[in-house]
Amino acid sequence: MLNALLAKQFQRKRMPMSYRRLSFKKILLVIMSIIVLASFQGCGRGTSPEKPVDVIEEANNNETEENEDDETETAPLKPKFTCPMDGEGIDEMPVRPVAVTIDNYKGARPQSGLDKADLVYEVPVEGGITRYLAIFFHGKTDIIGPVRSARPYLIDISREWNAVYIHAGQSPQAQTYFKNTSVAHINEMFHPSGFWRDKSRRAPHNLYSSTDNLWREIEKLGLDKNSVPEGFEFRNEGEALKGAAAAELLIPYSYGKVGYSYDAQTEEYKRFLNGNPYNDLTSGVQLSAANVIVQQVSVRAFDSEGRLEVDLIGEGKAWLFSEGRVQEGTWRKDTVTERTWFYDESGAQMRLKTGQTWIQLVPRKVQVSYK
Ligand SMILES: [Zn+2]
Repeated sequence: MLNALLAKQFQRKRMPMSYRRLSFKKILLVIMSIIVLASFQGCGRGTSPEKPVDVIEEANNNETEENEDDETETAPLKPKFTCPMDGEGIDEMPVRPVAVTIDNYKGARPQSGLDKADLVYEVPVEGGITRYLAIFFHGKTDIIGPVRSARPYLIDISREWNAVYIHAGQSPQAQTYFKNTSVAHINEMFHPSGFWRDKSRRAPHNLYSSTDNLWREIEKLGLDKNSVPEGFEFRNEGEALKGAAAAELLIPYSYGKVGYSYDAQTEEYKRFLNGNPYNDLTSGVQLSAANVIVQQVSVRAFDSEGRLEVDLIGEGKAWLFSEGRVQEGTWRKDTVTERTWFYDESGAQMRLKTGQTWIQLVPRKVQVSYK
């Protein structure tokens, strides 16, 4: 990033210098070549007279340096980087991922801003419902929420990406976690700056923020430590996923049936809940995913509230749904701060389609089906 930045500055500084170096002769040559080029354009291709071509070549030889500068100014802008989380081309590498805990209680739906995240997890919590963890890296949104409280395994996922973890309150177990472990996080209950309540919705399902607001607070708190995560592998353009056809996917969580239906036009899976399109509240757009990963996990209720323990370290079964096909495989994670890796049956890393990925953490007892 630094190199690219320096190169850019260098380019800007170089321009006036190279103009200064232009002698009268060179300027004359440039003018001549412009005239010749203009008249040349009037000729049909292949009928170019010999003389002007010579002049153009001479002008080019003499003006190589200036022309190179011109080219860098007018060439179509190619993205400089690839986002490690979604494979999109980006001009600037972001500083650090931000992981936002999103409420999925009935009164919290529909949510705002999930469609703008780089990556979204759906994770079981107590009471048969789930919570989302929306990870923003190059993704930006003016509104994200409703924001809810922390659970230890949500903190674990955030740490796997070395993200700044965003939440409003926490379970007693999460409180112990924060006490014992150094975690980069912002708790709205102690740091309300940057968050707001939407009074038209019932608390606690009405707390929002934006990526700009969160970044302002992250910088204030000195959490803007540069951390570019090691991302997924992505398929090349035109490279098909090997696997059986799978246009429909159904995950019958206790709170409702999450469905994905492949749309060959957009080459993405559209998201449904109990057969109804799952739309973003703010954009009105139906949520969709270029890739859906089903990660089968062991889940245990352990306290009087039915709060869960979710095993994220170890290995288990995984399925990748992408471009209307499914690939069976496994997931593996060795330590809490290491990434969860997804492998196909040959043991190679699953390769994703460029775009947003949804990772569905699904308890073993939930029977996922697809066709
Ligand atoms: Zn991205």
